Amino acid sequence: MSYVGPEFDPSQPPPRRGLGRPLTVMVAALVPTCLAGWLVYQSTSGPDGGEAARSLPSSPSASAERTTPSEAGPPSPSASGEGKDGDKDGKGDKGDKKGGGGKGDDNDSSTKPSVPDPAPDGPLKGKVVVVDPGHNPGNFQHATEINRKVDIGTNHKECDTTGTSTNDGYTEAKFTLDVARKLRTLLLQQGATVKFTQDGDRPWGPCVDERARIGNEARADAVVSIHADGSGAGNRGYHVILPAKVKGGAADTSAIVAPSKELGERIAGAFVSATGSAPSNYVGGGTGLDTRSDLGGLNLSTVPKVFIECGNMRDAKDAALLKSGEWRQKAAQGISNGIGGFLRG
Ligand code: ZN
Repeated sequence: MSYVGPEFDPSQPPPRRGLGRPLTVMVAALVPTCLAGWLVYQSTSGPDGGEAARSLPSSPSASAERTTPSEAGPPSPSASGEGKDGDKDGKGDKGDKKGGGGKGDDNDSSTKPSVPDPAPDGPLKGKVVVVDPGHNPGNFQHATEINRKVDIGTNHKECDTTGTSTNDGYTEAKFTLDVARKLRTLLLQQGATVKFTQDGDRPWGPCVDERARIGNEARADAVVSIHADGSGAGNRGYHVILPAKVKGGAADTSAIVAPSKELGERIAGAFVSATGSAPSNYVGGGTGLDTRSDLGGLNLSTVPKVFIECGNMRDAKDAALLKSGEWRQKAAQGISNGIGGFLRG
C-alpha cells in the first residue's frame, strides 16, 4: 500500500530535523488508518501550505510556550477574555448553550462541570492521566503574573502565555479547556484517574513549571498538554510535540524521551483516525511529530508527556474545525484513544 500523505507532497518545505525514524514509525502507524481521512482532507485543502511555512524561522514551530507574536500576542480586540463567545448575556451562565453560528459553539469554559468518578471496571483502572489544558482564559487579564520568568532547568521562560485565538476571537484557552473536559469524560469512562492542571478554577496560569510539577507529583502514567497553534493562514493540520533529551538544572528528560515518543506516536495516529485531519503541513515534515527542547512543561517532566497542537487557529479552514463542538469531541476521542493505546501497551 502506498501512503499519499503530505510528506510526499512536492509543495511542502523540506523537513527540518530528525525525519528518519519518526517518519518510518509514523508511516507504519498511519497507513492502516489515515488514508481515508487524508483523502477527505485532500479534497478540501489546497496544496498551498508551503509558502507561509517557508517564511517561518528555521527554529522549531511557532507554538506552545514559545513567545511569538502569533501565540503570545493579544489575539484580537474582540478576544479579551470571557464573554466573547457570541452569547448574549456575555458571561456564560450555567446552562446557556449557543445556537448555530456562535464562535466556538458550546464552548463555555467559565462553568466548571461536575466530574464523575472513574468507571470502576474500566480498562484504564488504576492508571493516572494528567490533562493540561494549555493557557488559561484569565491569562489575558494577568499579564504581570504570566510574564514573570520561571526556571525551566535549561533556561528561564515566561510563567505562561495567553495563547492564540481564531481571527474572530475564539481563544485557544477556551478551546483547550473544552477539549480537555471532553477528554476527561472519555478517560473516566475507561476507569482512569484524571487530574487537571487547571479547570477554569483559577484566575491565571499555572506557570509552566507548576504544570510539569502537577504531573510529576501525581506520578502520572501519561500527561498530555492540549493546545492549538497560531501560525500563518494556509498552515494546517495537527502535530504532537515530543520532549527532546535535555539536561540542565532541574531538567532531565533522559528517562522520559522514549516513552513520551511512544505516547506521542499513539496520539498522533489515533488523532488522524478520529478527526480525519492530516498531519501538519508546516511542522514535522509530514509526520505529525515535532521534538522540542525549549518547553518547560516538557523539560521539567519526569513522567511521559507530550503536547498536541490540534490545528492552526489562524487558518480559516482549521479554525472552522476548532470552533466546532462536534469536531472537538472527535479530537478528544482521538487523544483518548491514543492515551488508552499507550497505557494498555
Ligand atoms: Zn498554546
